[in-house]
Amino acid sequence: MRWIHQRGISDVNSMSDLAKSFREQLKDHVEIKSLPVISDQTAADGTRKWLLDVGDGNAVEMVYIPEDERGTLCISTQAGCAVNCQFCSTGKQGFARNLTVGEIIGQLWYAEHHLRADPKSIKRYDSYDKSILSHGDGRVISNVVMMGMGEPLLNYEPVIGAMRLMLDDNAYGLSRRRVTLSTSGVVPFIDRLAKDLPVALAVSLHAPNDKLRDILVPINRKYPLKELMAACQRYLPFAPRDFLTFEYCMLDGVNDSNQQAHELVQLLAPIRCKLNLIPFNPFPESGLTQSPKARIEQFAKILQDAKIVTTVRKTRGDDIAAACGQLAGDVQDRTNLAKRSERPIKWVQPIKVDEEDE
Ligand code: SAH
Ligand code: SF4
Repeated sequence: MRWIHQRGISDVNSMSDLAKSFREQLKDHVEIKSLPVISDQTAADGTRKWLLDVGDGNAVEMVYIPEDERGTLCISTQAGCAVNCQFCSTGKQGFARNLTVGEIIGQLWYAEHHLRADPKSIKRYDSYDKSILSHGDGRVISNVVMMGMGEPLLNYEPVIGAMRLMLDDNAYGLSRRRVTLSTSGVVPFIDRLAKDLPVALAVSLHAPNDKLRDILVPINRKYPLKELMAACQRYLPFAPRDFLTFEYCMLDGVNDSNQQAHELVQLLAPIRCKLNLIPFNPFPESGLTQSPKARIEQFAKILQDAKIVTTVRKTRGDDIAAACGQLAGDVQDRTNLAKRSERPIKWVQPIKVDEEDE
């Protein structure tokens, strides 16, 4: 494990402290490599995005976000996603397949060692937690978030397997609070996660009531808000910090009114949480637009005034489309996969009707 995950060595012959006979055996049984890289782009702000080939014309993406105090890697857990949220380009591509443990941890393995070989990235994190790695090098990736393509709780076992390696001192040695699993709200698996491996949890809310959430995040029809919020409360005692994070994507004229902000206050008041407002990253097939800046600020103010800790997420890597599913969507358009999985966008009308109701 240390040879592979800490030193980034893929050639079994170089693992010099392993018995020769064991190395010979390993060579016949293991393959140490990352998914093939289709593209590698760096944005003006240093955000870096890789598109990885998972075969059969499918691709997943991962994004590295450098900040002053940390380096965050956003990884994918599935090729496509079956949840089909209306504002998500991954959802629009349909579900292709689950990633394996190797394909999930391989993203961290590749990014960490690739970036570490780049002197510019090492310098940035030289002061960060060097001691964790036995060979003493600076670690480049300090945080991992499962916010790329896919619903991690619908690929439960492989995601748990990969997270165990993220936390293992012989591998990446990250603390539970530096590994964040983001979910659209698969209630039974939130409970399992609490028992198996309670990492930081982010819940993608996007609507303050069932009527709207049923449309925006269709899994809500199976696990409505009451059940979801109860599961969040049950998770809290196991969470690595004493709060959960809720994500709320700001969609112009859909979920961003003052009234909806007040409704959200009612929903979130009983739970210790932080709310992250995400400016919607538009893509043409969505038919949706980003809430204006002033609207987002007003929405945030209502929540803050009600003592809900609320932040507006900075958009990063805009010039390389470093948002959920976007680059992979471009590639799949070229292979016509998006066309094959195209589904009618039925929801624009119902949302407008909802607004008139209010
Ligand atoms: N399936 C999981 C994790 C992957 S999506 C989940 O839904 O939580 C990670 C985050 O990106 C989610 O909060 C999701 O709602 C958000 N997201 C998806 N598409 C987006 C878009 N076009 N603009 C902004 N945020 C988006
Ligand atoms: Fe899937 Fe998350 Fe996108 Fe919804 S937002 S379709 S759950 S990846």
